[in-house]
Amino acid sequence: MGSDNPKKLKVVVLGGGTAGWMSAAGLAKLLPGLVEVELVESEDIGIVGVGEATLPHIRGFVENLGIDEAAFMKATHATFKLGIDFQGFGKIGESYIHPFGSFGEEVAGVPFHHYWLELERQGLVGAFGDYSMAVSAALARKFTPPTTDAGLSSTYGYAYQFDATLFGPFMREFGLGIGITRTEGLVTEVRRDPESGDVTALVLKDGRVVEGDLFVDCSGFRSLLLGDALEEPWEDWSKWLPVNRAAAMPCAHIEDEIEPYTRAIAMPAGWRWRIPLQHRIGNGYVFSSDFISEDEACEALKASVEGDMLAEPRLLRFRSGRRSKSWSHNVIAVGLASGFLEPLESTSIYLAQMAVTYLIEMFPLDGKIDPRDRDEFNRLVDMEYDRIRDFLVLHYHATTRDDSEFWNHVRTMGVPDTLKGKMELWRETGRIEKYSDGLFYDASWLAVYIGQGLLPQRHDVRAGIPDPQQVARAMNGLRGAVADEVAAMPGHRAFLESEAARLAEPV
Ligand SMILES: Cc1cc2nc3c(=O)[nH]c(=O)nc-3n(C[C@H](O)[C@H](O)[C@H](O)COP(=O)(O)OP(=O)(O)OC[C@H]3O[C@@H](n4cnc5c(N)ncnc54)[C@H](O)[C@@H]3O)c2cc1C
Repeated sequence: MGSDNPKKLKVVVLGGGTAGWMSAAGLAKLLPGLVEVELVESEDIGIVGVGEATLPHIRGFVENLGIDEAAFMKATHATFKLGIDFQGFGKIGESYIHPFGSFGEEVAGVPFHHYWLELERQGLVGAFGDYSMAVSAALARKFTPPTTDAGLSSTYGYAYQFDATLFGPFMREFGLGIGITRTEGLVTEVRRDPESGDVTALVLKDGRVVEGDLFVDCSGFRSLLLGDALEEPWEDWSKWLPVNRAAAMPCAHIEDEIEPYTRAIAMPAGWRWRIPLQHRIGNGYVFSSDFISEDEACEALKASVEGDMLAEPRLLRFRSGRRSKSWSHNVIAVGLASGFLEPLESTSIYLAQMAVTYLIEMFPLDGKIDPRDRDEFNRLVDMEYDRIRDFLVLHYHATTRDDSEFWNHVRTMGVPDTLKGKMELWRETGRIEKYSDGLFYDASWLAVYIGQGLLPQRHDVRAGIPDPQQVARAMNGLRGAVADEVAAMPGHRAFLESEAARLAEPV
């Protein structure tokens, strides 16, 4: 054991990016007195520094750590996020919002969307998003936190959009406050036990040696421990997710209101993000280098942003895929060191959070790793990755676009069998495959299918039993109630400003 206290397990976290500090803070806070955490990071290397949009799950993480939401939002110049506005994915000129929330309610055991499909065919219904609080509030640029009662205002959730370069430092300060040791230095050698193959220590450039019982690899795309030292194979998914570059560039706000959502705007060789923060807007063109050059993509990004450029585009290179296993020997990779799924649905920080959560559940508190725990951890992490992969691929594949080589490629490419099955089920029955773990439930799949114009051949016949005029009246009632609730909400900026002492930096 590398610790003075024989009862405490010594965990070494390699990396001080978002994943590193989230892992270190999660382990130190949620396994109190049971682990000693040392984090090693190198300022010479730095962090990836992008990753501004999150999912609602992050709120639970922040809360579990005992972090005050207001302090966190203020420190990271965060805004609220109700979903993502996808523009031009199914068809040029069309858009839809994938919300953090539901669409309508099940009636007599039949999910809402079957009634909507029934009426849609008869021309008796409004846009699918009109029946979602999150969509309607986002379009109206309104925000107020959801209620906890059973009313309409409890049917949505929210996440944050924050400055990724400020999130790491915020978590670092928090981590240091709860007793994490931080070691600055460049790791140049990884020592392993010749018999077990376990990692025993990290050697720094200046000769210092950091020993440990368990190593959490948060070294980013380098994957220094899991990928380099343990040579865990890489599963490449670029045949389904061909984008492999991003040009990122901040710009100034151009108008007073702040959209409470992220925009994903389809581009000829990929898509472009637009993420409004309190003090600026984050932009980035995510593209495939097979279809456009890096210089052309940077120029296209510059030409498309609306506000004054605050910096030149910064280029990032990546590939979509993951290591076959995220936990091998006594090394657990979290964050980019375990894999990467391009940022279309802002899922990377979620994946890091889930890995930490599963690790805490399966943590070898007695110092001995049970292979069944390791296998279960790997199964859960794989499932998370696979589910997200399928959902991302759907955004590209469910398109009628034929205006560029890139869109022709993704429209006609093969897709994973698991996605193929889900899409067939939807096309033939209007049903969404059920699962209980992982990300993206019915409302998410419905948002993309319907939003991208992929309507099923059939739907539940029970939705056709009641008198359509009566159903249409009930739907109108719901649409009106959603509109009324949204009308009563404050604007997003007004909400931030009304809470300025708590939340907002001067904007
Ligand atoms: C273009 C793009 C857009 C993205 N957008 C989103 C988004 O909207 N939402 C989202 O959730 N995620 C997004 N992500 C992903 C997100 O940026 C990452 O998941 C997140 O930042 C975590 O990164 P990390 O901590 O794993 O790696 P990094 O930030 O790269 O940190 C790696 C750490 O390892 C250290 N290190 C490496 N090698 C050594 C060494 N030899 N010695 C010592 N230290 C070392 C570095 O110093 C650094 O501290 C995006 C990613 C990209 C590429």
